[in-house]
Amino acid sequence: MPEPPTADPRRVVLLNPGPVTMTPRVRDALASADLCHREPEFAALLSGVRERLARVYPEGAETHEPFLVAGSGTAAVEAMLQTLAPGEGRTLVATNGVYGERMASMLEAAGKAPVVVRADWLEPMDLDGVERALATNDAISHVVAVQNETTSGRLNRLEPLGELCRRTGKRLLLDAVSSYGAEELSFAGWNLEALASTANKCLHGAPGASFVLVRRGALEEPTHATTCYLDLARYAGEQRSGWSPFTSPVHVLLALREALDELDDQGGVPARLARYRELSGRLREHLLGLGVRPLIDPAELSSMISAFHLPDGVAYDELHDALKERGFVIYAGQGPLSGRIFRVANMGDVTDADLVRLLAALDELLG
Ligand SMILES: *Cc1c(COP(=O)(O)O)cnc(C)c1O
Repeated sequence: MPEPPTADPRRVVLLNPGPVTMTPRVRDALASADLCHREPEFAALLSGVRERLARVYPEGAETHEPFLVAGSGTAAVEAMLQTLAPGEGRTLVATNGVYGERMASMLEAAGKAPVVVRADWLEPMDLDGVERALATNDAISHVVAVQNETTSGRLNRLEPLGELCRRTGKRLLLDAVSSYGAEELSFAGWNLEALASTANKCLHGAPGASFVLVRRGALEEPTHATTCYLDLARYAGEQRSGWSPFTSPVHVLLALREALDELDDQGGVPARLARYRELSGRLREHLLGLGVRPLIDPAELSSMISAFHLPDGVAYDELHDALKERGFVIYAGQGPLSGRIFRVANMGDVTDADLVRLLAALDELLG
């Protein structure tokens, strides 16, 4: 009989929102031969990865082009804001969580203080507030938002915000770090100028590479960057011919190529979304059955993460440690939610057998 996957002593099922448990196919790519990023084999690799990234969403393949950045998702988000967000007072950030706040901080740090429209972390984005700010402030040319606000697990409703951007001619800059590869996107409908994402969330690659998908032509306009390393204008010319201006995380790109091939083989974004919905749906139903209260209306959660209140008398660390002993890593709440909630993501190589074991462990610990 073949060994069950859990017999692999290296196998830990990561249920945190990135990095994810890699499939053996993707992990094996990390042990590929060494490769210099000034050799033609690298140019072929980078061109292949860029070409595949661009068509993860066929709608954007002609209108938007990806540029790879070394670093975690935050590096890509900051490169996007550095390069494309104009000066002080011209960018509006709609935030309802940690990642929206982080983008406001990045703009502050770059000397490009934004107009910030805040909503409570458990509430949807304040669309009325955005509409009012845009109506009364002509200087604003760009709107910044998060698609899947991982803080609460809320899939922010981009349709009305994007439609507003399209109608008013504002350019949308999107943090799609925890949604690109699974959730639905509309490029033209949302007047999408750029989005930032990473190799190691819904795409199931290794951590260390991230990317910005930019509207073609946007980098031909003058850059707004106040840094050198995160100025995408520096990347554009070189990456279009397969080269990287700086040392590239070569093995992480090899793993990403494998992960993108695997995504294709599995049926692309629609299939991944269906799989995530199946996993998170079963998990949520089970926890509700145990009387565990969801942080927000489950209908408003994204497909890849679930957030729940800790049941009375259950400390986060105890739940975390007991699950870790059983091979599962969950995630705590951030900021004011710390110690009050727990989060369970379902990206990466999470099998049906893993889910069954997880539900049994939750029965044992919370039942
Ligand atoms: C994970 C995440 C990021 C980036 O985090 P890194 O740790 O830098 O990879 C940004 N935005 C959202 C919404 C995220 O979930």
